[in-house]
Amino acid sequence: MALGKAMGVLGSVAAVTHAGPALMPLFPPLASLLGVPRTLPEAPSRPEVAITFDDGPHPEGTPAVLDILSDEGILATFFLVGERVRANPQLAQEIVEAGHKVALHCDLHRNALRLTGAQIRDDIARAQATIQDTTGVDPQLQRAPLGIYTPAFLREVKRAGLQPWIWSQWGRDWRARATPESIVKDATAKLTPGDVVLLHDGDDYSAEGSHRRTVAALPAILNAVKARSLDAVVLP
Ligand SMILES: [Zn+2]
Repeated sequence: MALGKAMGVLGSVAAVTHAGPALMPLFPPLASLLGVPRTLPEAPSRPEVAITFDDGPHPEGTPAVLDILSDEGILATFFLVGERVRANPQLAQEIVEAGHKVALHCDLHRNALRLTGAQIRDDIARAQATIQDTTGVDPQLQRAPLGIYTPAFLREVKRAGLQPWIWSQWGRDWRARATPESIVKDATAKLTPGDVVLLHDGDDYSAEGSHRRTVAALPAILNAVKARSLDAVVLP
């Protein structure tokens, strides 16, 4: 994609996010252009996919997701929000104790297009400190709110020593009109080895109660992974 076209896409992303009642994840064309990985590294010994959750921890959604993952014996990657970790520190610890990987989403869930470099730097630093102080884990991976990376944002992410990572499949579970059936279909219809699947374990930045539909969909999503002989792994 030419840079001019990418900047045009970026402009329409800004317009859509400004108009939206809830901050919705958008497929991030600029992130791809900037070289942010979407999929797992090539050539594992067995075909793998990664299940990832953004926007938690959440007092209702996260425990429900953890229960299902435990029942199915699957580990996932959780991109945590600093303000949600401060509100639910015990849940952040439980994610780690269950063996899952914690990563950094943001401190406050804001659109990078509206932040200055200093604001971005401060947001990342506060989220890093919160996650480390609460869980004892120094996160290595980062995913931008809404998947929106700008060159300035990416520079700050790398300066903070973080590896950015987006996704290649999604359940589109943040939408008010999503159903458990639509989430399963969106997340798995085109699932192939190497895919990174985006889901949300909280509704603080999406349609109210969306995590309940995600939780209802999760067993079928994990069954689809197993039915295709894919190993679910955490992001490296
Ligand atoms: Zn998010």
